[in-house]
Amino acid sequence: MCQTDNSASAPNDLVAVDSRPVTRPSNPYQPVGDYLSNVGRFKIIESTLREGEQFANAYFDTETKIKIAKALDDFGVDYIELTSPAASEQSRLDCEAICKLGLKAKILTHVRCDMRDAKLAVETGVDGLDIVIGTSSFLREHSHGKDMAYITKTALEVIEFVKSKGLEVRFSSEDSFRSDLVDLLSLYSAVDKAGVNRVGIADTVGCASPRQVYDLVRTLRGVVSCDIETHFHNDTGCAIANAFCALEAGATHVDTSVLGIGERNGITPLGGLLARMLVTSPDYVKSKYKLHLIKEIEDLVAEAVEVNTPFNNPITGFCAFTHKAGIHAKAILNNPSTYEILNPEDFGLTRYVHFASRLTGWNAVKTRVGQLGLVMTDDQVKEVTAKIKALADVRPIAIDDADSIIRSFHLTLQNGHDGQTNGAAPAVAA
Ligand SMILES: [Zn+2]
Repeated sequence: MCQTDNSASAPNDLVAVDSRPVTRPSNPYQPVGDYLSNVGRFKIIESTLREGEQFANAYFDTETKIKIAKALDDFGVDYIELTSPAASEQSRLDCEAICKLGLKAKILTHVRCDMRDAKLAVETGVDGLDIVIGTSSFLREHSHGKDMAYITKTALEVIEFVKSKGLEVRFSSEDSFRSDLVDLLSLYSAVDKAGVNRVGIADTVGCASPRQVYDLVRTLRGVVSCDIETHFHNDTGCAIANAFCALEAGATHVDTSVLGIGERNGITPLGGLLARMLVTSPDYVKSKYKLHLIKEIEDLVAEAVEVNTPFNNPITGFCAFTHKAGIHAKAILNNPSTYEILNPEDFGLTRYVHFASRLTGWNAVKTRVGQLGLVMTDDQVKEVTAKIKALADVRPIAIDDADSIIRSFHLTLQNGHDGQTNGAAPAVAA
């Protein structure tokens, strides 16, 4: 039933628990029936090598960029977005180098809505250009200083040029949620008629709420016939929820970065989005993405930008599949679906039961007794559980402390002495 985990990465106060066949009841989180919803057929535009390069700690040399691009390609992302070749000479060379790798993913680069940038980009060998320009009054007045008529005219010229080169083209506004809705829809309608592959909505400042996202995307869905790409910053913690709502409303593409790295505190994280989408559309997600590679990719990027994976990260946070309270442990040991909506096995990860604490319960301890190869009656397990709780009430204990209590109690039993209970409450803690 259970066994000790021997992997080097196993935390030292936890025990790994083998999965039983996981029986999943009918899923209450299945998408609502809506023919415009794309939660079961979305595409990922992975922007670690563009948005992620804007993360405060990021410096990717060519070798690191290639490693990340290959890892993302292997994982199964649809597109990889790169920094504009207009940013620097090395950025241009790196863009060319990645285009030559022959990856399955399409390679995009993200450029200003400017003919000089577009001309430079089409020469690098990319499959498409993501063109962007600020449309909010803040950016029009304080950034590029152009009015909507100028923006529309320039956009149409650049789009025409990129299309003439046979490349994909996306046109996106920047700071879409603080742009005038009529301006925005007129602009998108014009570029849609000009034949863009996608229009993009960007919550550049992270101000949008899921409901606002839903409303804007659903409105836009009625105005354009092309695909809709979305880009959400995480300043108020809504980046995954906003991406999900955008897909529900009819968006087709979501921008992500590994661990969510990007400008300020970043954008929708790849792993977190897939956790969300796996719950909603398990068949689609499992058929398309090699989920067991997610930890490796996150570790690669975390190391490159010198950060640790956050403890509460979806899927790969160190405690994402660790169960502690006795009542949880008991249920998990019977059927993991009781307290898990995600199955760690889908990501090549291990489920743990934390039994060395005062919140433990006798079912978790019974599992550990079995793992240690010892035999006890349920009453005896309850007795030794009380001893573990008593010590854990005094100080934090490690797995070795709990194991010592179990072994010495077992020895006492073998020597013919009844272990005396110490009066601590038995069994389950909630
Ligand atoms: Zn961004």
